[in-house]
Amino acid sequence: MTVPRLFVAKVIEAGAELALDAPQAHYLLHVLRLGEGGEILAFDGGSGEWSAEIVKARKGSCCIRIGRKLREQIIAQDIHYAFAPLKQARLDYMVQKATEMGASLLQPVITAHTVVPRLNLERMRANAIEAAEQCGILSVPGVEAPVKLEALLKACQKGRIVVFCDERAAIAPPLEALGSLKGRKITALVGPEGGFSEAERELLLSKEFVCPVSLGPRIMRADTAAVSILALVNAVLGDWCRLPAQM
Ligand code: SAH
Repeated sequence: MTVPRLFVAKVIEAGAELALDAPQAHYLLHVLRLGEGGEILAFDGGSGEWSAEIVKARKGSCCIRIGRKLREQIIAQDIHYAFAPLKQARLDYMVQKATEMGASLLQPVITAHTVVPRLNLERMRANAIEAAEQCGILSVPGVEAPVKLEALLKACQKGRIVVFCDERAAIAPPLEALGSLKGRKITALVGPEGGFSEAERELLLSKEFVCPVSLGPRIMRADTAAVSILALVNAVLGDWCRLPAQM
């Protein structure tokens, strides 16, 4: 069994004893059935990855004692993923996949056809943490509060390129479109199940910092488009073709 990894939202230092929250203690003690002396890996998103040992295990609570640093922190790549929120199960999946695909920030965007009345940001953050623990990364993507499309564009016009997944774009090689963006800060944008409105497409296509991309002749579900565009961005611009800088 691989050594379990735990994200701790506290500053990690060698020798520190950190009390875990109840869900984390439950996971280690009652799901993984570890006890005192059990070994785990701990990361806090800023100081790399450390060995740690379970201590002071009681029913439903325990601490971990930090050992030595095993991996130096790596600066996460700067790829933002902006998306119109989806219904719960697909949203859980999309948050998990965007995290595994190295998105450093998850930005919900409310568009004309977005059907989700309320977003549970805490649930999204928990899904991002779980995905980060599972896929071995050293930082957890930020999960921002929802913004309107106009606000997203206003924020991106200061130096970011919006890679606009446009299901109505003419079929064209996405690698060529992305290849022209080397060195740029990327925000990939995927619309809701109902697609972007005509007015939203016109607004997006009117901006010189928006790069429309076709994902081929088939209309994908938004969560499929998420994985597709993030794979392409990683392959051309991200850490599938270069290592992020070491801290
Ligand atoms: N219901 C809409 C499709 C929405 S699919 C319609 O029938 O037109 C959800 C989102 O996934 C889209 O807004 C777009 O951002 C992305 N997407 C899906 N298929 C795509 C494709 N072939 N090319 C580019 N983006 C696509």
